[in-house]
Amino acid sequence: MMIDKDMVRKDINMEDQVGKVADWIVAADKVVIFTGAGVSTESGIPDFRSQGGLWDRYDPSDFLYQKIISSEESRKKYWKMHSELYYTIIRSDPNSAHYACVELDKMGKLDCLITQNIDNLHQRAGLHEDKILELHGNIMKVSCLSCGKQYSREEIQGWLESGIEVPYCEKCKGILKPTTIAFGQAMPQRETEEAERRSRNCELFIAMGSSLIVHPAAFMPLYAKEGGARLVIINLTSTPHDGQADLLIRGKTGEIISRIVERVKTEMVSG
Ligand code: NAD
Repeated sequence: MMIDKDMVRKDINMEDQVGKVADWIVAADKVVIFTGAGVSTESGIPDFRSQGGLWDRYDPSDFLYQKIISSEESRKKYWKMHSELYYTIIRSDPNSAHYACVELDKMGKLDCLITQNIDNLHQRAGLHEDKILELHGNIMKVSCLSCGKQYSREEIQGWLESGIEVPYCEKCKGILKPTTIAFGQAMPQRETEEAERRSRNCELFIAMGSSLIVHPAAFMPLYAKEGGARLVIINLTSTPHDGQADLLIRGKTGEIISRIVERVKTEMVSG
């Protein structure tokens, strides 16, 4: 018989769920947190797929990597969409979910944070670069696809503001692109391999604010399970990996993870 984990868990109230995850964190030495766009919606950055998200206004098929590198028209659309996202991001601030991850690190519990996000908010909340594995790049950096020259996003945004619709490398005239990963573009090798290794070696894997449908990022919770870790999923809506989770929490990441971290603090002080 199929067991509906959501149904099973409806009889566990939120406080008990929070307490259970806190106990698991206290007992673990290596906790991996995995974050998706849902962690930043409470900062005012819409995710892509929910109603009102970016894909309601833009067609994602316009932004396939092959199109971006082969057509000036696609690059024009790409930079327009990316500028909109960039301004939304720089006007946003980290929220309690980002700060809770920093707290967890201060308590010595965080092995690493793997993120699908490109918004730099984990760093802005104070989490050290060394603890963050960005699977989909970072919107604050731009590089040349031909010679690799690096630019700050601020500088390139200045060029766009001055009327340049499609920026090119000043050194070799190559195509410039934010270091974010477009559909069909190769994943960053070091980060992807390191994320898989950390996922397989952790004791507790907490995925939050991700639809878990973008691969290979969405394989990470499964690697964690294969490695014997407990899996907690905190998300507003269902994900394809809910059936694998040891605990599902339906709620807002900012509220839930900060409650969990507060409980961990209390338990560690009293224990
Ligand atoms: P997604 O848009 O596919 O899914 C986000 C998930 O978060 C959804 O399942 C939604 O129900 C849930 N959610 C939204 N707000 C929530 C909240 N407050 N609490 C709990 N859950 C919440 O996002 P994704 O799976 O991360 O994939 C989209 C890709 O687009 C990402 O890989 C990322 O690279 C990129 N992206 C990044 C940002 C960002 O950096 N902030 C924003 C949009 C998209």
